[in-house]
Amino acid sequence: MFRPHPFHWVPAEGKRHASTDPKPFKGYPTGFVVATLCGHQLAADNSEPAWFWEMCAACDVKARDLAKTPTPPVGGA
Ligand SMILES: [Zn+2]
Repeated sequence: MFRPHPFHWVPAEGKRHASTDPKPFKGYPTGFVVATLCGHQLAADNSEPAWFWEMCAACDVKARDLAKTPTPPVGGA
C-alpha cells in the first residue's frame, strides 16, 4: 500500500527543498511560501526547469530522517 512521506519536495530559490506543509493537489504554485525542512520560508518555483536544480543538502538530510522514522499507524476510521 502506498503511504506518502510526510514531506514534499519543492523547488525554491535555486534548490530543491523539502517541506511538510500541506501540498495543493497540483503541487505548490509558484510564489507559494513554504516552510522548508532547512528552516527557511521560501517561495516555491513550480516551473519545470526548477525540478533540475540541485537538492538542498540540509533538506535532504532531514527528509531522510523523516523517511526512516516509522510513523505510527493511523488508528480509528
Ligand atoms: Zn532546504
